[in-house]
Amino acid sequence: MKYADVAVKCPSYSPFCYAIPPHLNVHIGQAVWVPFGSRIVQGIVVQLGEIPSVNVVKEIDDVATGYPLLSPTQVELVKWISRQYLSSLFDAMALMLPPGFERKLATYFRLSGDQSGLSLLTPEQGEVLHFIEEKGRVSLRELGKKLGVGKAGRITDKLVNLGRVVRFSELEKARVEPKVIPYIKLVASKDDIAGEIARLKTTRAYKQAALLQFLAEESKPLPISEVRKRVNCSLKTIRALGSGHLFSIELVTVRRDPLAHFDIKPMPPVSLAASQQVAWSRIEHNGGKSTVFLLFGVTGSGKTEIYLRALAKTIAEGKRGICLIPEIALTAQTVERFASRFPGRVAVLHSALSLGEQFDEWWWTRRGECDVVIGPRSALFAPQPDLGLIIIDEEHEWTYKQEDKSPRYHARDVALKLAELSGASVILGSATPDVDSFHKARLGEYQLVELKERITSHGYSPLPEVSIVDLREELKAGNTSMFSRRLLSAMKEALIQKEQIILFLNRRGTATFIQCRRCGFVFRCPRCSIALTYHSVEKKLVCHRCHYALLLPVNCPNCLSSRLRFLGIGTQRVEDEVKRFFPQAAVLRWDRDVTRRRYAHEELLSTFRDRKADILIGTQMIAKGLDLPWVTLAGIINADTGLNFPDFRAGERTFQLLCQVAGRAGRGVKVGKVVIQTYSPENYAVQAAAKHDYVGFYDQEINYRQQYSYPPFSRFIRLVYTHTNDKLCQKEAERVSSLLLEKKREEVPDWNLIGPIPAFASRVRGRYRWQIIIRGSNPAQALSDITLPQGWTVDVDPVGMV
Ligand code: ADP
Ligand code: ZN
Ligand code: ZN
Repeated sequence: MKYADVAVKCPSYSPFCYAIPPHLNVHIGQAVWVPFGSRIVQGIVVQLGEIPSVNVVKEIDDVATGYPLLSPTQVELVKWISRQYLSSLFDAMALMLPPGFERKLATYFRLSGDQSGLSLLTPEQGEVLHFIEEKGRVSLRELGKKLGVGKAGRITDKLVNLGRVVRFSELEKARVEPKVIPYIKLVASKDDIAGEIARLKTTRAYKQAALLQFLAEESKPLPISEVRKRVNCSLKTIRALGSGHLFSIELVTVRRDPLAHFDIKPMPPVSLAASQQVAWSRIEHNGGKSTVFLLFGVTGSGKTEIYLRALAKTIAEGKRGICLIPEIALTAQTVERFASRFPGRVAVLHSALSLGEQFDEWWWTRRGECDVVIGPRSALFAPQPDLGLIIIDEEHEWTYKQEDKSPRYHARDVALKLAELSGASVILGSATPDVDSFHKARLGEYQLVELKERITSHGYSPLPEVSIVDLREELKAGNTSMFSRRLLSAMKEALIQKEQIILFLNRRGTATFIQCRRCGFVFRCPRCSIALTYHSVEKKLVCHRCHYALLLPVNCPNCLSSRLRFLGIGTQRVEDEVKRFFPQAAVLRWDRDVTRRRYAHEELLSTFRDRKADILIGTQMIAKGLDLPWVTLAGIINADTGLNFPDFRAGERTFQLLCQVAGRAGRGVKVGKVVIQTYSPENYAVQAAAKHDYVGFYDQEINYRQQYSYPPFSRFIRLVYTHTNDKLCQKEAERVSSLLLEKKREEVPDWNLIGPIPAFASRVRGRYRWQIIIRGSNPAQALSDITLPQGWTVDVDPVGMV
């Protein structure tokens, strides 16, 4: 007998062991049906063996797919993710299953083989039994609709207990399937067709004759819809002609290509600049070993060209690649550059595609038909065979961490593991590497490859000159506008020269909070512990945590005064202000409020790139690797928005944002200019960003991390408990904390606790939040043999602490 460990959809960390009946051929990564409790459910095989891991073993019921859905490497990766991020095995598995692979189970009933039981049935039970017999199989849902949910449950329970009915579960019908369309294919010989055309003409069937003529000239199979359009004929004409055995109709599977609307022109490789040549030869002559490179190149240093070369080399060696980008919004730009180098060989995978497109891209990749898959973090789990290279562009971006659901993985760390398991190389690219990555490069774990020169289509160009404006001085000089005198005059000049400007502010909306002038009342979200932001375009107060919104009130609900104060600024307010100062300028705003539609990002970016607008105002989105050659001025409205965040990464985050925004300016002919407005001009992150001095920033930052034993010198696990009742929430947090402390006393481990304390937004969507942080070299140790009840979330290596 052989045995299989199967991951089943449930919160367990471990798989369940089943015997493989001799008639089944089962592989690792395959989907199978297994008995689980009183049901039959679908699971994925993660291990095969000769010895069962438990004494009592049930048998696998059947295979669900004839072939493995996951490769053995992916299965290994699943196990690692589950261990590393303390997530259930199935949650980790779900990352890699094909799109639309249904995970929702429905309960069904069928008659059991043995109906000889003499048990007496009540009329209702008899009726249900009869109903099931008639239909062959019936879902609990259907019975519930007929009888009411409670009753359906009771009666079927009884029938199952009596042995008359078998309960089983099945995944609901697939939500997505391959798209097939009918094609017309000529089957008759040339002579026969010529004869038929002549005959049709004599019988005055001119339409049919024209149709046949067209098909004969095209000679290849064509979709019916296309034929109808091009010949301008009806389905009836086609049918009439079809009865003569001249052609057959065949169903052809077509790929729903997400790049179909792109106009991609093939482009040969450019010749490398000297700086790129040096970097490239370091990567190229690597002796074929799998290596992690940290490509540390200033903004605009031509990193993408290095990625393309590395990929071409990988392909030449018969392997394939995956390229991760930080945002779906930026897919278009990267995809265009990759697709014009490798036409027809690029797949994209992300959640903004239709399910049909995702499905087709997944299977297209799985069949080994594309050289590279591009997408945000989830693209890492594409079933790319013969993986030789993983590229992570803008590797410092926090969007690589999945925070909102389990498994809370970091795509960079998972990529490193995947590369190790599959023997692939990794290129991490950034102008502002994550402190942890740079630390590893310094330790020699990664090969550091540098690009110090900025390249434009006209050769090398210096980085933009940055000036810091102290906003306190502006106030002293009587300037209360959000634009300093220096920024304002730089904007004027750029507009006169017909150059483009970007303005960055890390907050959406118009005013970040509204306060009554008389009693001090502040409008807050009733479900979250944060102030509401005013959005002037929609004339609404909006909660940025839970999207709660209300029309701007006229009066204070507390004292009925109509004198409300609008405090703090957001991107909408910047837009209003720009329009006030420069009524002639064409302005675009790029934030989540305007980019909810599909292709909204693409449209916005191409409008700006085609110079149909002068000024682009945006949030983080504009800090992520955009190449906009006509921008000569970048203005940072307020550099401090992130600095005062209670998080040890606040400095790093601010530095990255400032450098990246500054990096958008001066990527064309003219040297760029950057104005950073701040109330804390002496801050080390602001100072270093103004000098484009990553290494200077890093040296200070790493000292501070070491001094306070923050990552990379320790690791964190963040535990958050949420509950609608604040007292109960606190009590549970304290209970778990004392449990942990007890364990600590017994074991003398190298970890400690921070908290329990209320999380930074202490209430979100009506639920209170308390958190405990475990810090140590191996904090997961603290949680071994502790089971957390529902309501807790576990975040290993969190990117944010609030
Ligand atoms: P990064 O990703 O480092 O910010 P990019 O790869 O976007 O930089 O390159 C910056 C600009 O320089 C792009 O417009 C790109 O087309 C151009 N470029 C890069 N390498 C070369 C080269 N070897 N010759 C000419 N132009 C180049
Ligand atoms: Zn009031
Ligand atoms: Zn809210």
